[in-house]
Amino acid sequence: MSELVNISEVFGKNVFNESVMRERLPKNVFKKLKQTIENGKELDPSIADVVAHAMKDWAIERGATHYTHWFQPLTGITAEKHDSFISAPGQDGKVIMEFSGKELIKGEADASSFPSGGLRATFEARGYTAWDCTSPAFLREDAIGVTLCIPTAFCSYKGEALDEKTPLLRSMQAIDKQAVRILRLFGNTTSSRVTPSVGAEQEYFLVDREKYLKRKDLIYTGRTLFGAMPPKGQELDDHYYGAIRERIGSFMNEVNRELWKLGVTAKTQHNEAAPAQHELAPIYAQANLAVDHNQMIMETLKKVAGRHGMTCLLHEKPFAGVNGSGKHNNWSLTTDDGINLLNPGDTPHENVQFLLVLACILKAVDVHADLLRESASDVGNDSRLGGNEAPPAIISVFLGDQLEDVINQLCDTGEATHSKQGGTLKTGVAMLPDLDQDVTDRNRTSPFAFTNNKFEFRMVGSSDSVAPSNVVLNTIVAEAFQEAADELEKAEDFQIAVHDMIKRLFMEHRRIIFNGNGYSKAWVEEAARRGLPNITCMVDAIPALVTEKAVKLFENFQVYTRAELESRAEVEYDSYSKIIHIEALTMTNIAGKQIIPAIIRYTTRLADSIGKVSSVCPEADISVQKDLLLEASARLAEIKTSHSKLVVLQEELKGIKDAKERALACRHRLVPAMEELRRPVDSLERIVDKDLWPMPSYGDLLFEV
Ligand code: ADP
Ligand code: MG
Repeated sequence: MSELVNISEVFGKNVFNESVMRERLPKNVFKKLKQTIENGKELDPSIADVVAHAMKDWAIERGATHYTHWFQPLTGITAEKHDSFISAPGQDGKVIMEFSGKELIKGEADASSFPSGGLRATFEARGYTAWDCTSPAFLREDAIGVTLCIPTAFCSYKGEALDEKTPLLRSMQAIDKQAVRILRLFGNTTSSRVTPSVGAEQEYFLVDREKYLKRKDLIYTGRTLFGAMPPKGQELDDHYYGAIRERIGSFMNEVNRELWKLGVTAKTQHNEAAPAQHELAPIYAQANLAVDHNQMIMETLKKVAGRHGMTCLLHEKPFAGVNGSGKHNNWSLTTDDGINLLNPGDTPHENVQFLLVLACILKAVDVHADLLRESASDVGNDSRLGGNEAPPAIISVFLGDQLEDVINQLCDTGEATHSKQGGTLKTGVAMLPDLDQDVTDRNRTSPFAFTNNKFEFRMVGSSDSVAPSNVVLNTIVAEAFQEAADELEKAEDFQIAVHDMIKRLFMEHRRIIFNGNGYSKAWVEEAARRGLPNITCMVDAIPALVTEKAVKLFENFQVYTRAELESRAEVEYDSYSKIIHIEALTMTNIAGKQIIPAIIRYTTRLADSIGKVSSVCPEADISVQKDLLLEASARLAEIKTSHSKLVVLQEELKGIKDAKERALACRHRLVPAMEELRRPVDSLERIVDKDLWPMPSYGDLLFEV
């Protein structure tokens, strides 16, 4: 039995949160800081020293020796550089611990080796990290000791964003401003801010550490590059929501405790569809905090897995043919006085404000489907999206029966007069209570689904940051709100104008609504008829970042400049090629050094057997050995051919200088060549002796955790 925990005692223990600040900061300083945090006011630099001092004392009392500006460069993960609190020794030889306001607010990272996509040449190495006081500082406890982590944004010498957080904060300002305009139109004078709320559900795999270490592909690329399907996969669905085993249970217990200490509201945990796959979801929080928390969740999962003799795989598709992992980004808009703009109420047909918000979101998603799709692309997700387990690569919106019916009434008759209501679910068992039935069933195949009072964007990859998706969501909806507010603020009769606008927007953007089965072939054809984009891979998604439409959108809201967008596209092409090259190199290494030698041992064993059997017993039937030898030799020849082809191809592609061209060549030439090498290897894995096969199988990895 593991240690008992009292959640309320541990929760937020390692966070420099509001109650700690109230206790430790002078009243006027606390007030000023709170204003910055809550109202987005600029931080008063004169209070920084006082805050830094209090933060340092608090951290040191809890054993901290170092502090770090914790930031999120364009690698999808976090980065940090640690400094100890030690400054020069004092007169008496005792060490002085210092941490000034300047060190809190601004850090300088020689960040020339972070991706910048040409925004900064290597000789212009200066990059700055700036404190994001809306996300509280926290203490991380691990083998290094205790470190004070200060969430920061990361910019170049000239102020261009080099990270995920800066544009996210900019996009939050944009949607705040435009959403408040919409509220004012409906006579709301009391709400002063609107913030996107985000809850990111995280899927992951756990594998045994020792087995993991025997797989070079997992070590270098985070996914298996070879591997035949085990006799049993997920077809019985006996893992999904299954009872959690002891080893996993004790891992989850520790993950929760670590996260609670960091103020992350880890809430639900369950086994997922694939064997060895699990999910963790926190309670939703304001978008930038939720993005930070998701990074902490990923870090904690990895760290704690190691302590339990396991490795956590965050890759989108660690095992071909087995369900992959994603991240559901739940998103809604909340006012500072607690109103959720996406709450339809019991009778949505009468809720005009909700219908306008909904119509604007539909328009945003329809007009900028390409950007949303781009925000969810990473290399791993290419093996998942559209693969009958994850959302299709086509963006559509699921609204459910009730809302679709309201929209149909509006579009068909110009008037919505009623809302479908949920019934009562009869269990048919006298002892069980009858349950209220939700008005709408769930749809698991939609990439963008309305669920109760939020939208769930289900396309994001499990290893990716959720920041880019929220940047896009916030900005595209801000644009739709802006266009609506511009028109409605000028209207002579608001009621008539808003009614007409809602109807018009639904009519114009209805094509994006789809309540059916997103996994079906019929939908792919239907979507093409509707003119919806079907972008099947990352390299085809990236151009969406730099269309004139995107530049206009992001420049209008000062979320990205054209140069920042171009640099991001460049970074993505480049990282795509790098990742594919690493995978290809890992494959040729494994094939050359482990698989080919193993097959040679196998064929030698067969040949020895044929020789020995026929000399001892010339009349014995040795056709099985011969068949196997023929088959193995034929596959071996195929492996050698594909292996050589892959080696040559890699060299050839290295010569391509243009980032986009190289990425396209990787996608269209290297990826198919990798698949060609994999095929004969996987088919041999099914026949070669287990003791000769040089690495653990899918079955070993998935069923023996
Ligand atoms: P569901 O099962 O319908 O997906 P859950 O209650 O499991 O809903 O929530 C999934 C995630 O969505 C959780 O992280 C949850 O906190 C988050 N969530 C719930 N309501 C909202 C909301 N209004 N805005 C954003 N996220 C939300
Ligand atoms: Mg969900």
